[in-house]
Amino acid sequence: MMRTMLLKLSQNSSLREAFSKYRFAQRAARRFIAGEELSEAIAAVRELNTHHILATLDHLGENTTNEREAITAADEYLAILDAIARTKVQSEVSLKLTQMGLDIGYELCLQNMRRILERARAHQNFVCIDMESSAYTDRTLDLYERLRREGFDNVGPVIQAYLRRSERDLERLIEWGVRVRLCKGAYQEPPTMAFSRKRDVDANYIKLLEMLFGPRAQEKGVYPAIATHDEKIIRWAIDYTQQHKISKERFEFQMLYGIRRDLQLQLAREGYRVRIYVSYGTHWYPYFMRRLAERPANVLFLVKNLIKG
Ligand SMILES: Cc1cc2nc3c(=O)[nH]c(=O)nc-3n(C[C@H](O)[C@H](O)[C@H](O)COP(=O)(O)OP(=O)(O)OC[C@H]3O[C@@H](n4cnc5c(N)ncnc54)[C@H](O)[C@@H]3O)c2cc1C
Repeated sequence: MMRTMLLKLSQNSSLREAFSKYRFAQRAARRFIAGEELSEAIAAVRELNTHHILATLDHLGENTTNEREAITAADEYLAILDAIARTKVQSEVSLKLTQMGLDIGYELCLQNMRRILERARAHQNFVCIDMESSAYTDRTLDLYERLRREGFDNVGPVIQAYLRRSERDLERLIEWGVRVRLCKGAYQEPPTMAFSRKRDVDANYIKLLEMLFGPRAQEKGVYPAIATHDEKIIRWAIDYTQQHKISKERFEFQMLYGIRRDLQLQLAREGYRVRIYVSYGTHWYPYFMRRLAERPANVLFLVKNLIKG
């Protein structure tokens, strides 16, 4: 119930306006975001890199409502890619298509993506397209395939294990030799679209991972990113890859900035590729609310910040 309520609130624009101004909320959000400025995010990536941990930089923002905003959002990504190249930090980028104008128009979004992918290509970098709610799944996968057909191979999508359709989507993506992030899914979805019980989501996650490590996927050069903080799943992946002699270079683990730092460091020490999703910017409200929804105990953390004044 708490999850549902927090996810509903994450889409409330009046609350976003009010909440974003409170200092206690800003302080609490800082646990999950690297700062408001690109320079702060680059510093956070540099620190991760010293521990042999990679990053993917995310400039917070979603559901832009006009063309200018979408073009500005794409420009920010060009600046991020330039900054990564200039500072030589080890990082890729992650973005959302609604940030690039998908709600306004497919063509606008496509044009913004082409600009970003061309810049990423010039810097030999990679762009991951985050997956948003199920209202966008078809358009996101369609746009991914369109970009691949246009010759961009430095782009990858995300698959959400809670969606019932994901097995079908993955079958298709495997044929593209996709570089794909597998996560559980962070949005509010109806039971017709998504598994609602954690054990069903987890079982589907394992099923999809088996597909990603299966012979067809390996033959096609699929590169999976196992994006979860769930230790059981992580241990399952480690055991599976060891038993099937899949080397550590053929996949990576991904986690979110500010969550399970201990586990991030431990995996890196064990010689696994670990990549952290580092978010920055001022539009942190929906991202922060999704982090609260994932773990109700985080609400206590917010309350503690309120009490601190
Ligand atoms: C790198 C990365 C990228 C992602 N990209 C997307 C995306 O594009 N689209 C999308 O829908 N979702 C995305 N997600 C979010 C994902 O779908 C889940 O909502 C999120 O990862 C929590 O699920 P879990 O896999 O960690 O497992 P859970 O079963 O939810 O959690 C396992 C354990 O992890 C820890 N944990 C999990 N979440 C939190 C938290 N918020 N605060 C503190 N501890 C926590 C707890 O110890 C918990 O017991 C991404 C996640 C990661 C790691």
